[in-house]
Amino acid sequence: MKVDQVSRRLEALAVSETLAMAAKSRELKGQGIDIADLSLGEPDFNTPDYIKAAAIQAIHDNYTHYPPVPGYADLRQAIVTKLKRDNNLDFTPEQVVVSNGGKQSIANVILSVVDPGDQVIIPAPYWVSYPEMVKMAEGETVAVFAGIEQNYKITPAQLEVAITDRTRAFLFSSPSNPTGEIYSREELKALADVLARHPQILIISDEIYEYINYTGHHESIAQFESVRDRVAIMNGVSKGYAMTGWRIGYMAGPLWLAKACTKLQGQYTSACSSIAQKAAAAAVLGDRSKVEGMVGIFRKRRDLVVSALSAIPGLRTNNPPGAFYVLPDISSFIGKTDGTHTISSSGDLVMYLLNVGNVALVSGDAFGAPGCVRISYSTSEEVLKKAVDRIAAALSKLS
Ligand code: PLP
Repeated sequence: MKVDQVSRRLEALAVSETLAMAAKSRELKGQGIDIADLSLGEPDFNTPDYIKAAAIQAIHDNYTHYPPVPGYADLRQAIVTKLKRDNNLDFTPEQVVVSNGGKQSIANVILSVVDPGDQVIIPAPYWVSYPEMVKMAEGETVAVFAGIEQNYKITPAQLEVAITDRTRAFLFSSPSNPTGEIYSREELKALADVLARHPQILIISDEIYEYINYTGHHESIAQFESVRDRVAIMNGVSKGYAMTGWRIGYMAGPLWLAKACTKLQGQYTSACSSIAQKAAAAAVLGDRSKVEGMVGIFRKRRDLVVSALSAIPGLRTNNPPGAFYVLPDISSFIGKTDGTHTISSSGDLVMYLLNVGNVALVSGDAFGAPGCVRISYSTSEEVLKKAVDRIAAALSKLS
């Protein structure tokens, strides 16, 4: 054994490709190259002032001590109020656990229920961190793939055949990162009908992009009585309130699971920042007009990007109704060359677009979507216009 030998558990984890692309693009920017960066997964807006004011007040009021492990009572009550107001779901504050971002909420749930060898079904394309979290728990990811021709959404039949007696959980996001797609009420009902026949499966419903939805009302799989008591809703304030840096997310689910997550985080983070919790309580209960304003801007940007991408020969794009991502299928460029660079994968195409086109995207490989690239449109129209022009020009050189 050597001192610098990291654990097998850590070695098995992949490095986040999103972060690797951010580092590469920062390096080029450092050399003075103008990079149009569409690789980021966060709103480019700042946190609204009324939320910042609540945090400042919390400091003045001396909320500077350890908070309770599952979160302050007033924040958990605010989340219960939100779940009733927005989703018509009944929870008690004891069923809510507040964590350091939605990311920790998901990891808490996975580590609370997955034993070595247990399977977790994850529709692909998926968010990069899901399979890595399953690995951390020594579980096995069963990816169920849905391509662009089915709007990247799995069917009930696909779900049914993936279920085995080792399936412990079903984990998905809607609205989705990386596709921006949303399961309709009917589609969620059809998935719930399948899951209703398999009572050992916990449903982990990641709803972090709830408010970034251009179709109108958000639908949660927790609304269906047949599965209601085994849905863990994951949500948070990062995306909907432009609060990524505050690190507040939450899980609302069955009481036994809330107790498990509390036990777990009690041993490794204790709780999350007292100040950020007070800010999150103000966000969740506060005026939503700022949020709605952001959504209107995101929608305009989506239209700009999708219409420009649709005009590029050989590229097939979806027209996503939510989140702030588009996932075009670029498989027709695989095997092509500009004479210097040969494209053998979406990873190659992303590097080509970075080095030749000076646009930063993320390869679909990281999201279980080989043949695709993820575009984040959470940046200004000016950068978006520049980026899509550059993508079109760089792709036109490939034959
Ligand atoms: N779930 C999805 C699908 C995400 O894209 C993200 C962030 O990128 C998260 C969860 C976690 O968000 P946070 O930890 O900032 O609350």
